Amino acid sequence: MTKIHELPTVLADQIAAGEVVERPASVVKELVENAVDAHATTIDVLVDEAGLKTIQIVDDGDGISDDDVELAFSRHATSKITSREDLFRVHSLGFRGEALPSIASVADVWLKTATGKGAGSEVHIKGGELVSHTAGQSRPGTEVTVSDLFFNTPARLKYLKSPQTELANIVDMVNRIALGHPDVAFSLTHNGRELLRTAGRGDVQQVIAGIYGVQTARKMVAISGEDADFKLTGYVSLPELTRASRNYISILINGRYIKNFQLTKALIKGYGSKLMVGRYPLAVLNLTMDPFLVDVNVHPTKQEVRLSKEAQLGDLIDKAVYNRLAQENLIPDAYQNL
Ligand code: ADP
Ligand code: MG
Repeated sequence: MTKIHELPTVLADQIAAGEVVERPASVVKELVENAVDAHATTIDVLVDEAGLKTIQIVDDGDGISDDDVELAFSRHATSKITSREDLFRVHSLGFRGEALPSIASVADVWLKTATGKGAGSEVHIKGGELVSHTAGQSRPGTEVTVSDLFFNTPARLKYLKSPQTELANIVDMVNRIALGHPDVAFSLTHNGRELLRTAGRGDVQQVIAGIYGVQTARKMVAISGEDADFKLTGYVSLPELTRASRNYISILINGRYIKNFQLTKALIKGYGSKLMVGRYPLAVLNLTMDPFLVDVNVHPTKQEVRLSKEAQLGDLIDKAVYNRLAQENLIPDAYQNL
């Protein structure tokens, strides 16, 4: 008798979910990223009870054809990459084909989708099991509704923080994705109350104003920089506007919000001695580069990435910030209104 056997699919999906779906904010992240990848121009996020009751994402993107809709829920099924070469040049936010099956394995999921051709479909999956698949809506786009998150993984449910903290994580996630996609109109509503709305006009400063307030946005200046490999655009706060943590720094690589200590350090270095100890700027850095230069396949959530030319990119950020702030100082305050 053999001792080794393959795990049932649902169990394997639940194990993967442990990495991809840590908390309600992870569900929001994955579903919003799917909507962005589907070229949506409007993405509405509706959340109840900090995501523990329901999380609904409505987009006007490409939709999924009826033939594909069940496949979308099987593990490692993706429309975004097909070959090894693609893996090293990922242009989309997703590519692992793990989000939908992972989420569906630990929640109750309804997906309504239509491509604009044909009737569209409606699929209901609970705890990884297909409950129903019928013809559905005809408006192009996708609507995913996730409820009863972690109903079958009590340990995960217990590990969640207070609703306030879980909601804060959701808000933070939507904010960062919106900052990286000013051309998409986002809204976030919690228990019927609207927390964020962006215009989708491509104006980052408008998104900043929507998130941090108009007064804050006014104290931020545009920066840009370019070298042979990287292009940088963004906004950084004037030295007079600081915060006590690094949480107001958003770095996006090809539209993906990432966390990177070295690049954050480079940004702060650009301020020279203008920042007080323990104070940090607000910033949105949108970086574009050949996807070949960034390995996003480091961690399931793709927030940690490996950069081939990190030091060079750090220099570009440091100089762009330094030069922009030096310009501000050309006119001392006392003469500004003359
Ligand atoms: P990945 O994003 O890594 O491809 P997912 O499990 O998140 O994996 O999604 C599986 C597939 O389902 C995607 O590749 C895409 O083809 C399709 N899909 C998921 N969400 C959407 C959406 N909102 N609009 C259109 N297609 C979608
Ligand atoms: Mg995805």
